[in-house]
Amino acid sequence: MPVKVLIPIALQRFTDKKSSVEVEGKNINEVMLDLAFRFPELRKHIYSEDGNIRSFVNIYLNQEDVRFLQKLETPVKKSDVITIVPSIAGGLFKKKKKLENQVPVGPDSDHVTETQKSENTAPQAQHPIQTIIDGLTDEETKRYNRHIIIPEVGVEGQKQLKRARVLIVGAGGLGCPTSLYLAAAGVGKIGLVDFDVVDHTNLHRQIIFTTQDVGKKKVEAAKQKLKAVNPNVDIILHETKLTSQNAMDIIRNYDIVIDGTDNYPTRYLVNDACVLLGKPNIYGSIFQFDGQASVFDASKGPCYRCLYKEPPPHGLVPSCAEGGVLGILPGIIGLIQATEAIKLILGTGDSLVGRLLLFNALDMSFRELKLRKDPTCPLCGTNKTITQLIDYEQFCGISQKPVEEDDEQINPKKLKELFDKKEDLILVDVREQSEYQICHIEGSKLIPLGQIKQRSEELDKNKLIVLHCHHGGRSMQALSYLKSLGFTKLKNLDGGIDAWADEVEPTMTKY
Ligand SMILES: [Zn+2]
Repeated sequence: MPVKVLIPIALQRFTDKKSSVEVEGKNINEVMLDLAFRFPELRKHIYSEDGNIRSFVNIYLNQEDVRFLQKLETPVKKSDVITIVPSIAGGLFKKKKKLENQVPVGPDSDHVTETQKSENTAPQAQHPIQTIIDGLTDEETKRYNRHIIIPEVGVEGQKQLKRARVLIVGAGGLGCPTSLYLAAAGVGKIGLVDFDVVDHTNLHRQIIFTTQDVGKKKVEAAKQKLKAVNPNVDIILHETKLTSQNAMDIIRNYDIVIDGTDNYPTRYLVNDACVLLGKPNIYGSIFQFDGQASVFDASKGPCYRCLYKEPPPHGLVPSCAEGGVLGILPGIIGLIQATEAIKLILGTGDSLVGRLLLFNALDMSFRELKLRKDPTCPLCGTNKTITQLIDYEQFCGISQKPVEEDDEQINPKKLKELFDKKEDLILVDVREQSEYQICHIEGSKLIPLGQIKQRSEELDKNKLIVLHCHHGGRSMQALSYLKSLGFTKLKNLDGGIDAWADEVEPTMTKY
């Protein structure tokens, strides 16, 4: 009966590059024998000379190691999936020979001798020394050696990386690991868009920056590090906020865009500009322990608007600045984005186009959802209504009005004036207890957002109630809720306790 066997990359060169094959057998033993029969080159990698399965080859039936089932006698049925899992050392085992003699070899150190013997005849034609020098300097050839010896990369692939132009929007949690790895990998031109300066709160995840960089312009500090990692790459700085006015001019000079933004207006802006210019947009987002990644390329699949037609109401979804993020998370998601960029440049593998990858660090799980192109998408659907960039702040419901004109908002200086005038008001802090412990405004009453329903009776409707949180998003939700209960004298502290620390109480600890 036919069963499916998944072949690891290290062994696919013996199975005509197939990642899965169908073989016959009633138990694991028969399946493995049939596999070795069909692909004789594979035999010596699976079986030792005495005919036993090699000790560094593990065989799994579905998710179970057959050693803990009935070993080779474990019966198999049609729907079963058998996976061969060889040990992979990661490093390169053969360093004695000079470059011109190196050959593309697999990562399995245990059978290096056989591999070298079996492949020493062909690869010279694949990577003649002249090609290696052509287009790459001696230093680059050495630097990228571990790339060049992968058949899917080779000299041509490395030259493609050198010619590639990748724009990274946002030198933050996602942009830092992405830019470091792309620079190290030899992507010839890397553009960075960011207008911010390095802040202490960046350091737990934005690994390109050091403590000494606090206060420096992000793009400049990043360029210094990237040049130190790889002086061969061109780092183009766009020290600006990406806007509807400049996005097209910036993005058109690149082949691929990596979205490392942390806010909805810029995310939609990046998406729309990429669709209008026909550029792939590698998406990543992070929150607390969760991450998402995909590749939006409207010529082949959906765009971000196909996934989310419009953003959530302003303030409803907390940002990382409000909700926090595990420091390593942008490293994982950022490197998935960098991986997708390199695959697109090399034209190899299956990209995340049409797939949404969900990562959960707490479960340590990756899940994948299918994404479909929405025929009614206003940007890439059949009846397009968006043909140029729009006002994204307005689209995302972010007020453009000056604070004074918005009668629900109060700025920190005004609030301070009310305190100084001994105005009878209640200041309600809707953050969490842990945040309150870091810093709080003297005299404030702590009612975390999640408790506001149960504890609204503690508040006097006749008094002015000023609500605040970290940046102003959660307190706006609290304000809307209290308004629905009939409270009328409500204000939201614009910019939250963060703005208060900046404008009124500079000695306060910020986070
Ligand atoms: Zn779309």
